[in-house]
Amino acid sequence: ALSLTAIRKTFAGLTAVDDLYLAVEPGALVSLLGPSGCGKTTTLRMVAGFERPDSGSIWIGGEDVTRQAPNNRGLGMVFQSYSLFPHRTVAENVAFGLRMGGASRQAQAEGVARMLDMVHLRGREDMYPAQLSGGQQQRVALARALVVNPRVLLLDEPLGALDKGLRESMQFEIREMQQRLEITTLLVTHDQEEAMSMSDQIAVMQGGRILQLGAPNDIYDRPKSAFVATFLGTSN
Ligand code: ATP
Repeated sequence: ALSLTAIRKTFAGLTAVDDLYLAVEPGALVSLLGPSGCGKTTTLRMVAGFERPDSGSIWIGGEDVTRQAPNNRGLGMVFQSYSLFPHRTVAENVAFGLRMGGASRQAQAEGVARMLDMVHLRGREDMYPAQLSGGQQQRVALARALVVNPRVLLLDEPLGALDKGLRESMQFEIREMQQRLEITTLLVTHDQEEAMSMSDQIAVMQGGRILQLGAPNDIYDRPKSAFVATFLGTSN
């Protein structure tokens, strides 16, 4: 459903992403996992269309989107810093994509109700983001991303601002929803446990490349290099 072929990106001589290949099966969640500066966010931003690769191409649903504007790629996105509109209510935030797409008032109301049910926030329609907890704000962000039935969901450290206990329950919640909706998802994280608990496959990155790609248990049990073993905190 999503594939990156030989994508490369340099910034002023620094290679951020280096000849990277990745294929995400329809309905799968793949994590890009690695230390700060390894190129995770740059990779995600190229999929989103915020950065143009120097070379290589990006395919979504069999279509080359490398030169398409972000809005035309059929994506939903959730980032670490809550990107909700602070002066709009929960309902207005969730309805945003539908309104931009020209949906009727009734279709907007139905979409908002359906999504707020899904993220357990019914009854909060008229609240403002500042009146919600961090976890609730990220649920709204997720509802806003998913309401338009995106082809691919992009998550960049979506739980990075939350405390540990909440992070674990949200990991479970997001994963459960992702599997139920069968939405193809790319997740960026530097948190090994998060990648282990949420992913179908993990791509461990270093220096702009994928060092190893595999199911969580595979990577954990059979790290192919000392870097992967150390990064996952395994000792074999
Ligand atoms: P983090 O977890 O800290 O966000 P990351 O793995 O997401 O790290 P990137 O943000 O993709 O890493 O950065 C990869 C490299 O590219 C880094 O060396 C970074 O400094 C550099 N870089 C990223 N964006 C830019 C930019 N707009 N201009 C210059 N250099 C950049």
